[in-house]
Amino acid sequence: MRIAIVGGGVAGSYLASLMANKHDIVIYERQSYEKFYTVCAWGTSLPELRKLSSKIGLNFDDYVLFAGKRMIVQLRDEELEIPLKGLCTFDKRRFVMDMHKGKEIIYGEAVRTAPTDKYDLVVDATGFSRSLLPRVGKDYFIPTLEYKVKYRNPPLDDFMVRPLPGLTGYLWYFPLDNGYAHVGAGDYYKQHVEYLNDFMRRHGGEVVMKIGRPVRISPPHLCQPIMQNNLVGVGESIGVVYPALGEGIIPGMHNAQLLASCIEEGRLQEYPSKVLKKFNVYEKVFQFIRKKIKGEFNLLRDFRLVLSAFLHMKLAEDRYGMVIRLKDWLRVVEG
Ligand SMILES: Cc1cc2nc3c(=O)[nH]c(=O)nc-3n(C[C@H](O)[C@H](O)[C@H](O)COP(=O)(O)OP(=O)(O)OC[C@H]3O[C@@H](n4cnc5c(N)ncnc54)[C@H](O)[C@@H]3O)c2cc1C
Repeated sequence: MRIAIVGGGVAGSYLASLMANKHDIVIYERQSYEKFYTVCAWGTSLPELRKLSSKIGLNFDDYVLFAGKRMIVQLRDEELEIPLKGLCTFDKRRFVMDMHKGKEIIYGEAVRTAPTDKYDLVVDATGFSRSLLPRVGKDYFIPTLEYKVKYRNPPLDDFMVRPLPGLTGYLWYFPLDNGYAHVGAGDYYKQHVEYLNDFMRRHGGEVVMKIGRPVRISPPHLCQPIMQNNLVGVGESIGVVYPALGEGIIPGMHNAQLLASCIEEGRLQEYPSKVLKKFNVYEKVFQFIRKKIKGEFNLLRDFRLVLSAFLHMKLAEDRYGMVIRLKDWLRVVEG
């Protein structure tokens, strides 16, 4: 097939890598080669990324910047210490650019209309912008701001997250290498800049880069259509982001695997229903987050939602890179 993948982020590039040599693929990427960047905190799970990378001939360990041992969760009046099982940061920019290698890729081209007449299949892998598929009716997203900070004496020696009041967002500190860290915050009600700058005032450090964009938390069932004739979405463009964390790297890669297998098996028509089934739990987790955000959450009434999110993560501790305990989860939910 002749396939255009619009968006050379992690989902589009992984899809292209999985299908390399099997199809005639062109990637269109809005950013230039020189300025290409991946706006993200670069946090992921080492065991899961090892598996996913090996499928495309990359050694994930070459990209790891920092492997954590524990994550501090700063609640209003206590700190939790979560043992880690592979949560790490990695050089996502270099990883994605290495996936670009050997592919036909056109940089600096922002595609506005799907070139469906020129290709057998066009993939909308444009992330939050969802440039080609129809707009999402009721879209939910979290605005974010992130600094790359250089420290002489880092204020923390491992991962830290601080949920914002009402769980409407959180502040994060993700260590990189050589004294650098990604320090950022996101909040549905846009209080994140205040929290982030307060952290910076207290802990100092030299801001060497400021980045940010919204993260979509609307799950796939709210991001329909997922496919329209020979135009199909993958990754954050169709809401494949774990809503409780705003985590989209592994979900986007899993989604790319699903799309690649639907294409290989000639079952593309089944792709939308398979996406909804595979990421079904995101709908429940989103309902929980939405209720928290809107101040409509009640632990007794909504316990089923809280439990779904807990069980989903508990059964996939390696994939999330951390030990998941009900008592921690309940404290975060109530905090
Ligand atoms: C501040 C922040 C921190 C985050 N931290 C983490 C984290 O630590 N771990 C994690 O798992 N997730 C994190 N996420 C979420 C994660 O980064 C995304 O969900 C994930 O990268 C989505 O992958 P994607 O390939 O679908 O989209 P993207 O990574 O956004 O890639 C889309 C690509 O499409 C290109 N593009 C857009 N429009 C067009 C167009 N019209 N034509 C051509 N190209 C176009 C863009 O330039 C981009 O390269 C974070 C998000 C933010 C904003």
